[in-house]
Amino acid sequence: MTIGIIGAMREEIVPLLTLYKEYESIEIAGNVYYKITYKNATIIIAYSKIGKVHAAISATTMILRFGCEKIIFSGVAGGLAKGLKVGDLLLATKLCQHDVDITAFGHAMGFIPEGKLFYESDKQLCDMAKEVAKDMGLSIKEGIVASGDQFIANQQIKDSIVKEFNAIAVEMEGASVACVCDNFKIPYCIFRSISDSADGEASQSFDEFLESSAKISADFVYKIVDKI
Ligand code: SAH
Repeated sequence: MTIGIIGAMREEIVPLLTLYKEYESIEIAGNVYYKITYKNATIIIAYSKIGKVHAAISATTMILRFGCEKIIFSGVAGGLAKGLKVGDLLLATKLCQHDVDITAFGHAMGFIPEGKLFYESDKQLCDMAKEVAKDMGLSIKEGIVASGDQFIANQQIKDSIVKEFNAIAVEMEGASVACVCDNFKIPYCIFRSISDSADGEASQSFDEFLESSAKISADFVYKIVDKI
């Protein structure tokens, strides 16, 4: 089994590299892929750089170049749902691209013809994650995650994403990884820990909590991979 783990930023994968300790580094198309042999599995870890395009490059490389059979994303996100706090862990049941807009032709916001408005995470991986969370005594929230090439730091924009997509969190990569995996028929799941609330204080909160929240997500993903 070959499993790919993607983060967007270096801080999101460093906790995993620290846990796995030994790895080989392979450079492809502007990214470094860290190859790990763990029990009977091969694990490929990379940070893609921020945004949907970069994340799509990494996901595609993991599938075509490394033969990854499952892909997991680990990182941080802005919380949209009421009650979500910094450090809360969540899994994306579905993902959408909140910044896709060809509504001028009568299409729904987020929809691209021959694409999907919502991409669904793999049920088996989600179920496994919920089991792991239970065993660890962690609570994990689930819901729709909206991705777009914008750092959301504004109450009005935040409200409009909630209204349009009923999303519980916002980030900048999940839906593109989901779209790649859906097209290649590769099971995937996106995990995020909250770093900020996507409001007027989001950038300060993000800077303060990036590392600690990234570690919460990475530690959890490490436990899931152990179970696969
Ligand atoms: N501080 C960084 C930029 C971070 S962009 C720099 O200057 O280089 C935010 C990253 O965290 C993205 O990878 C995104 O997926 C996630 N994220 C966390 N909170 C977010 C928010 N409120 N809106 C959008 N993405 C968010």
